[in-house]
Amino acid sequence: MENAKNMVEFQLRARGIKDQRVLRVMEEIPRELFVPKVYRSRAYEDSALPIGEGQTISQPYVVALMTQCLRLQGTERILEIGTGSGYQAAILGKLAKEVFTIEILEPLAREASALLLKLGYTNIHTKVGDGYKGWEEHAPFDAIIVTAAPLEIPQKLVEQLKDGGRMVLPLGDGWAQDLILLTKQGKETKKEVITNVRFVPMIKGVK
Ligand code: SAH
Repeated sequence: MENAKNMVEFQLRARGIKDQRVLRVMEEIPRELFVPKVYRSRAYEDSALPIGEGQTISQPYVVALMTQCLRLQGTERILEIGTGSGYQAAILGKLAKEVFTIEILEPLAREASALLLKLGYTNIHTKVGDGYKGWEEHAPFDAIIVTAAPLEIPQKLVEQLKDGGRMVLPLGDGWAQDLILLTKQGKETKKEVITNVRFVPMIKGVK
């Protein structure tokens, strides 16, 4: 049977996800609510799934890995780029203090925001906008997570990251993206390649 408990055991723990808070929260959050009805029976599969508008909800392992990279304690203010289904935001909402999430496609933003409200989250703030610009009014952030792949590291996001803050993002095109963990240290940034991944491309905003 595919369920959250098995997903955590066989996809996350077995592959080396160790952050106990991440494991616990991913066992608690009903992923089936974040996928379209036709995919509900496949919600806990070891894969990404379509969520409409040509976009996808990420594979559970990748969600866990990226979240673990942020080393959250519960006090942080986080910026997410690419709200999509709202699943990653829901996880961050349980692990951090405040989550600001930006989605460029209005129908997805509207749906995710309604779902997160219905589930009772009061610490997740959504907006429709261009993620390349970040969310100036609420900067700086303790951590930033980008869930669509840009070709280059968006400088505005680096600027909106706190000193000592961590940013995780997929970088590159189509078939050859690196998952990067960037740590800001004063004027320097340290970059570490975590693994390779395949995300939808980050859409260049029009405005
Ligand atoms: N975190 C999401 C994954 C969504 S896939 C989840 O948990 O379901 C990536 C999302 O990024 C898509 O919804 C896409 O529309 C959005 N996106 C792409 N380019 C963007 C941009 N420039 N600004 C904000 N969102 C963007």
